[in-house]
Parts: sequence; C-alpha cells; structure tokens
Amino acid sequence: MIIGHKRQTEYFQKVLARGALAHAYLFHGPANVGKRTIAEEIARALLCEKSKKGFGGCGACDSCVRASGGAHENVIRLSREETLVSKKEIRKEIPIEDIRELRRVLSFSPQPGIWRVVIVSDVEQLSQEAAHAFLKLLEEPPARTVFFLIAEHIEYVLLTIRSRTQGIYFSLVLDDAIRGYLMGHAFSRARADEICAYAAGRAGVAVGATQKDDAIFESEKRARGVSHALVKGAPFFFPYAEKAASDEDIRLETADSVIRTLRERLLEEAHVPAQARLAKQVKNVVRITEAMVRTNVNPRLSLDLIFFEGSEGMKR
Ligand SMILES: [Zn+2]
Repeated sequence: MIIGHKRQTEYFQKVLARGALAHAYLFHGPANVGKRTIAEEIARALLCEKSKKGFGGCGACDSCVRASGGAHENVIRLSREETLVSKKEIRKEIPIEDIRELRRVLSFSPQPGIWRVVIVSDVEQLSQEAAHAFLKLLEEPPARTVFFLIAEHIEYVLLTIRSRTQGIYFSLVLDDAIRGYLMGHAFSRARADEICAYAAGRAGVAVGATQKDDAIFESEKRARGVSHALVKGAPFFFPYAEKAASDEDIRLETADSVIRTLRERLLEEAHVPAQARLAKQVKNVVRITEAMVRTNVNPRLSLDLIFFEGSEGMKR
C-alpha cells in the first residue's frame, strides 16, 4: 500500500506497462516516506506470476507471497541490517564483502524471462571500497536486473553512482493522504489527526502507529518529543524535564530516550573528535541517570542536567 507519491506511482505504472524500466534508480528523500515500499511493490509487480502490470503484483501467487515474506531468491536486499554475508549484526557501513557477494550472485545468468531486483537501502552507508565495487556493477549491468538504490541524503552518494542511476525524489507525504489512509482503516478523524501530527509527513511512521497499541504509541510520541526538544535547546527541554520529573516511570523513560537519541547521533557521526565528545556525553547521561535512580538526588535537577548534556551532544 503506497500512501501519497501519486506522481511517482503513475510514472512507474506507465514504465511497467511499457516494459521500459531503466536498469538503476536512485530513490532519495526523507526517511520513512515510502521509498522502500515502492521499490518492493515494483519488485512484486515484475515477479508476479499473474499480472504483469500495475503495482504490488496480485499479492496471492507463490511469487508474491515469497517476495512479501522476504524469501524470493530474485529479490536481493542489502542494507545496514540486511547482509548477504553471514554476519547478522547491524553494521555502521555496508562492507565490500556484501558487494563481492552481490557480484557473485549476479554473475549467474538469470532464469529466462525472469527479473532480478536488487534493493540497496542506506546507499550513503556503503563503505568507500564497497561504493566503488558497486559502481562497477552499475557500469556493466547484468541482464534482466533492476537496481533500486535508496538514500536519505543524496549528497553523500558518490557522484559517479548518481550519474549511473535515474534519480527520483520523494518528499514528505501530505497530511491529507495519510489521513485518508488512516480513516480508510477505521480510525476516527480525531485519532487520524493525532497520528498525522505525530508522523509529520512520514507515511511509514503513520502505518507503524496503526500497528501498535496505544501505550507504545504514547511512549514513542514522548520519545520523539524528547529528541525534538534536544535539538531545539533549553527553552524546549526545560518544560519537558519539569513534566517528566513528577512521574517515576516517565522520568526513566525520558532519560532513556535522551541516551538513545545521543547513541543514534553517535552512530551517524563520521568525525572522530565529535565521536569522542558524544561518547563522553552518553557516559555522562548514563551516570546522571544512575544517580537519579539509586540516590535521592533531586529528579528535576537530574533531568535538567540530562537534557543539558543531551542537547550539547545534538549540536553540530
Ligand atoms: Zn502475484
């Protein structure tokens, strides 16, 4: 199910109907707006045993079921979480080993008449070596293979890769489209508005919210508020600290959100001195949190300090 992106879906519908796919696309734009979903739906359309046109395939044939379940041998996915080599942990980069394995897999001729779809997410996280090896693949594209490259920040993707792919930009999704989807899934207008505000144009976040129960939704909403306050600085985080201080559970959850936000920021940071600074800030926040839990230090004061450290860490 694709929410919004009418122009892009219409474009691909035409391209699919004409059988005129390019060999590589670079989908770029903000996270969680539907880039990967569209790539997956095109993959199903190409591999579906019934319909050869339109998005998402029939959803019922063996091929569609396997593709949806991540078990289709002709849909190859690569990202920081998805690897072709044996190690399964989340990596900071996509290493050269993955691209070597991809080249090996693609070196076999495809079954006659059958497409192979390669979806590479986090393209900006390809290691330098991996990016150059991947470029070679794009320069000598294997037969009946289409690549979907997915990136949030196109400026971090090698120019040579960009020039070998057709770039398609995906913007944030309009609230109307998200609201329409939610109300079509039995959500009240008020609830749909609330989820829309929370998702802020990220359709994937809205879909995620529909699949979670209210308590999880509420706590994620608070976590998002915390990272927002950290970026915005003191006038935003002081009211947060004050509110959180009065409830023991929320107090801990808030400290935890600060730590998680800092860790995510640390993972993204490529600059070594900044990494060291962030690591120290994470440590400080953990230390203050432990003191808040174990001693009778004033929780409001602890939270102010936690937010202060966190906010320093978010400065670029
Ligand atoms: Zn099908």
